[in-house]
Amino acid sequence: AVRIRNLKRGFDGRAVLTGIDLDVRAGEFVALLGRSGSGKSTLLRILCGFDGDADGELQVASRRSIVFQEPRLQPWLRVLTNVCLGLRGPNVKTRAREALEEVGLVGRERSWPLTLSGGEAQRVGLARAMVREPDLLLLDEPFGALDALTRLKMHELLRSLCRAHEPAVILVTHDVDEALVLADRILVLTEGRISLDLDNDQSMPGLHTELAVAEKRTRL
Ligand code: ATP
Ligand code: MG
Repeated sequence: AVRIRNLKRGFDGRAVLTGIDLDVRAGEFVALLGRSGSGKSTLLRILCGFDGDADGELQVASRRSIVFQEPRLQPWLRVLTNVCLGLRGPNVKTRAREALEEVGLVGRERSWPLTLSGGEAQRVGLARAMVREPDLLLLDEPFGALDALTRLKMHELLRSLCRAHEPAVILVTHDVDEALVLADRILVLTEGRISLDLDNDQSMPGLHTELAVAEKRTRL
């Protein structure tokens, strides 16, 4: 789903990504850790196609979708319309209804976004992403603003969506436990490169500590 070689991106002469090499297979779930400012969102933006000014070799699945920490719903459009936004075709509404059902929001199709809780709004965000049937799902701290219990429910939801649709996923998170619980593979971004790339082997002693230390090691 992703093949990147020596990807570089800087802003105003300051290097942020200094040489990213990364392969993500179809259906693989990868978590990306790294300190604030290390360039995680920059990398996702490039993968999503929102930033065409990066140097290097880049091959990305054509169908991709991104979810941010804030679901960024249009407040003047109802939930169902938000999910359909930008889609065309005869059965768009049916597909959107199915997507809302999948995220547990049956009956909220005609609700206004501002009447949703944070968790419900992010469920809409996930429905809006999944209805596009992405081969690559990019998640930028999608649960960072939610309380611990809601986050656990969202982990369950994300797991079931991934089981059903098998997109490749890149999940940016600051939560090492979240990475360990969800991902097949965990990356750490340090000084513009992937400094650690580990299979998520839960039985490996010290994995949690190693990741936590690696994430904090990034120099700003
Ligand atoms: P956080 O964990 O806080 O979300 P991050 O790892 O996602 O951090 P980025 O948002 O990718 O970090 O930003 C990396 C660096 O690049 C920051 O110093 C940021 O200010 C800079 N940067 C990102 N986009 C731009 C831009 N369009 N113009 C100038 N600087 C930018
Ligand atoms: Mg970010």
